Amino acid sequence: MSHAPPERIRTAARAKITRIKQRIAALDDLCSGTLVKRWKVCGKAGCRCAHDEQARHGPYYEWGSMQGGRQVHRMVTPQQARVLRVAIRNHRQVRRLLRAWETQTVRILKAEDRRK
Ligand SMILES: [Zn+2]
Repeated sequence: MSHAPPERIRTAARAKITRIKQRIAALDDLCSGTLVKRWKVCGKAGCRCAHDEQARHGPYYEWGSMQGGRQVHRMVTPQQARVLRVAIRNHRQVRRLLRAWETQTVRILKAEDRRK
């Protein structure tokens, strides 16, 4: 537990919250789920993919996400995959930032406690 004066704790926590908000404001796309890259075997007679791993088709991108309480997988284009990769990374970052924001708010509340 820090013994800094409550005023100083509050000022420092407020400054951190301001930086957290700025980092969230700087993000554009946000998406949950996972993105998987796959190579596939087509099943056509005579296609090399059946025996040669290097000849498999792809990459194909599959986006997995929770929708209405169940896991849904869908194929996306390479362009959509590029957007999703960033959006998923942003989503994780926002969750971390929200936890950090909460931590700072708790610091402020505890500093208020010690004032009495
Ligand atoms: Zn094939």
